[in-house]
Amino acid sequence: MSDTTQFRTTTQHMLKESKVYASHTLMGGLAGFESPIGLDRHDRINALRTGDIGFVHSWDINTSVDGPGTRMTVFMSGCPLRCQFCQNPDTWKMRDGQPVYIEEMIKRIVRYKDVFQNTGGGVTFSGGESMMQPAFVSRVFHEVRKEGVSTCLDTAGFLNRNFTDEMLDDVDLCLLDVKSGDEKTYHTVTGGALQPTIDFGRRLNRLGKKIWVRFVLVPGLTDSEENVENVAKICESFGDAVEHIDVLPFHQLGRPKWHEMGIDYPLETCEGPSKELKARVKDQFESHGFVVY
Ligand code: SF4
Repeated sequence: MSDTTQFRTTTQHMLKESKVYASHTLMGGLAGFESPIGLDRHDRINALRTGDIGFVHSWDINTSVDGPGTRMTVFMSGCPLRCQFCQNPDTWKMRDGQPVYIEEMIKRIVRYKDVFQNTGGGVTFSGGESMMQPAFVSRVFHEVRKEGVSTCLDTAGFLNRNFTDEMLDDVDLCLLDVKSGDEKTYHTVTGGALQPTIDFGRRLNRLGKKIWVRFVLVPGLTDSEENVENVAKICESFGDAVEHIDVLPFHQLGRPKWHEMGIDYPLETCEGPSKELKARVKDQFESHGFVVY
């Protein structure tokens, strides 16, 4: 793939206006990464186990998008969920990612360490689902942290059992998506189960980690008072770990990718939330004592 096609202007988790995101994004793609070629299924399974190689969709340098300061965000390939509002269905299959040697990734991240340190930034692993390639991500985190680079994991938490407590030692901040507040709605929204996310948030709290919760507000799907109330209660169960909640208004930036891939897009006619709806949801979370952005 060319640089242009790999360059990202949006992330699937932070549904920012594309113009805003683009203005915060300095560079990206997968240019310059030496890539192993001819990997068969056995090689891939082995790479997943050892973490010597990671399957990466793309990366970029951004500000104020995927954590504090200026950050390098690495979008890993592969995701077990199928969120109706996913902006990047092209990250779903791990085999569609580009294999990257772990040494290459570490070198690339450490190259920016002065920028990270000067801005209070660091590296964020996102996706797809960042916890789908646990050995690669945790080994990278371990190595770059030794160089003074702050680390952030952007995840839905569904696969948190892939990470031992020891692996989580190297995570400074977690951006945790709580996509809905009860199992039924969560399953409708994502195709997956909610409980692993709840378990993970509580586990992060026990481990003394910091969480920024993300909740995507989709009219007619996630916006009922009851659903928001349940999300707030789940966040309360994460204790002091939660620093704030990001309410991310749904919009249609992802629609062209669903069309390009020829898959049915369930939110084809859905519009973003009104100002009133955003204010109501913000108030609801604030009434539980949370800082809300
Ligand atoms: S969790 Fe997976 S399906 Fe859901 S928005 Fe993120 S990448 Fe898309």
